[in-house]
Amino acid sequence: MYPKTLLDYDSDTLKALLAELGMPSFRYKQIYDWIFKKFVFSFDRMTNLSLKERVMLNENFNGVVPQPASVFKDRDDGSLKILYRLHDDNAVEAVAIPAEDGRMTFCLSTQVGCAVRCPFCKTGESGLIRNLTVQEIVTQLIILLRYTGKKPTNIVYMGMGEPFNNREALFGSIDVFTDPSGLGMATRRITISTSGVIPGIEELSAREGEVNLAVSLHTADNDLRNKLVPINKTYPLDKLRRAIQNYTDLTGRRVTLEVSLLKDVNDGYHDAMNIASFCEGMLVHVNLIRFNYYKGSPYRPAAELTEKNFRKALKKEGVSVTVRKSAGSNIMAACGQLSDRSDG
Ligand code: SAH
Ligand code: SF4
Repeated sequence: MYPKTLLDYDSDTLKALLAELGMPSFRYKQIYDWIFKKFVFSFDRMTNLSLKERVMLNENFNGVVPQPASVFKDRDDGSLKILYRLHDDNAVEAVAIPAEDGRMTFCLSTQVGCAVRCPFCKTGESGLIRNLTVQEIVTQLIILLRYTGKKPTNIVYMGMGEPFNNREALFGSIDVFTDPSGLGMATRRITISTSGVIPGIEELSAREGEVNLAVSLHTADNDLRNKLVPINKTYPLDKLRRAIQNYTDLTGRRVTLEVSLLKDVNDGYHDAMNIASFCEGMLVHVNLIRFNYYKGSPYRPAAELTEKNFRKALKKEGVSVTVRKSAGSNIMAACGQLSDRSDG
């Protein structure tokens, strides 16, 4: 017996294991379809396999879907965070966020660690460890689905990692989620959050579908952004602005600009004015995310009054702005706290 569940193995190993059990190669695709298209997680229900094969799979694998290594439930808002241990012992987190209006948002990770290394983000602390595969991204959704008993109404790529630094697996997972014979998610219910990787924005703009774009702007001052979002040195603000504009021109969809206000760093009146000029003439919306403090961070969240004034100043300049602070959404910002350790 193999000690792990079926989805604990990467696809190449899995193909080899099935061959070892004497199964023809097309079985892999059939099993894959049961799991990823029909969301069937029991070998017994995979009825196009022979009875003998189903028994053999039950005997040889420890189930289909990995158990999360740990689960955290937020008592206040009902959101659920799982830690998923990968076959090489790395781990990533994924979050299910229910909302009162019945929406259920799943927040997924795309990488272990992140090469961008924004200094206010816990995921970036370790640098990039590795990219996730399509299977590992989709498995996060499956674990959340099994745990909550609900399919997501929305998917956001706002967990660990920079999605556009792992484009192949990112778009591969979107193809799985939107496959009409599977989950059939509408593309407009999916959002990718990027630190500003322009080739990714361009690829998304050229793709069919209506996948939403969120850009972690944080500041519209180039020097400050070089520090807060170091990828800005490669993709500076003027180029980023053009790429966003091109996306909105091609798709007609409004882009969300994420801004986390850090006390005495990017929360001044002039910072608000810089953002307002960046937004001028653009189809964008600013989302103020509360900074989530984590142990060891040199940053602190801006005071509530400062945040309020910041929002007012943007509004006065005609910028569409919201503060993300409803209960369920809180943990979205907590996405920025995700790390591969299980300390919460
Ligand atoms: N790498 C992508 C997506 C993951 S981060 C990106 O940066 O956009 C999701 C969001 O959380 C981003 O807007 C990010 O800037 C923000 N974030 C990171 N660390 C945070 C923290 N400690 N508190 C609040 N938001 C944070
Ligand atoms: Fe990477 Fe996003 Fe964290 Fe920056 S905020 S280090 S891009 S995960």
